[in-house]
Amino acid sequence: MALFDLTPGLHRGDQPVAQLAARTHKGQAHFAGTGPAGKQCRQCARWMFVGQWRHGPAPSPCGKYRELMRQKGKPVPYGAAACKFFEPRAQEIPLAKPVRSHA
Ligand code: SF4
Repeated sequence: MALFDLTPGLHRGDQPVAQLAARTHKGQAHFAGTGPAGKQCRQCARWMFVGQWRHGPAPSPCGKYRELMRQKGKPVPYGAAACKFFEPRAQEIPLAKPVRSHA
């Protein structure tokens, strides 16, 4: 489902906006894939990880979206392609829940 009505033929740089919008999740601060190549939202300091794992880290809201829109957005999947507001996270969220050792 499109995030909004698109003007036919609209481009951002050399990329059609329709393609960018198609891979963008609701709740992302900007178009997915406009951030550093290969980076995902779970690697971004703005991704407000809720601290739960299902099949990977649970979808979590984007803090930049909240800042821009002044309301909480829909939770964004961990694997969403990063947007232009990407900021590297000091400590990356692991893909699986860490196992505690009882030593
Ligand atoms: S890359 Fe960061 S700022 Fe952009 S949508 Fe993902 S969590 Fe939000």
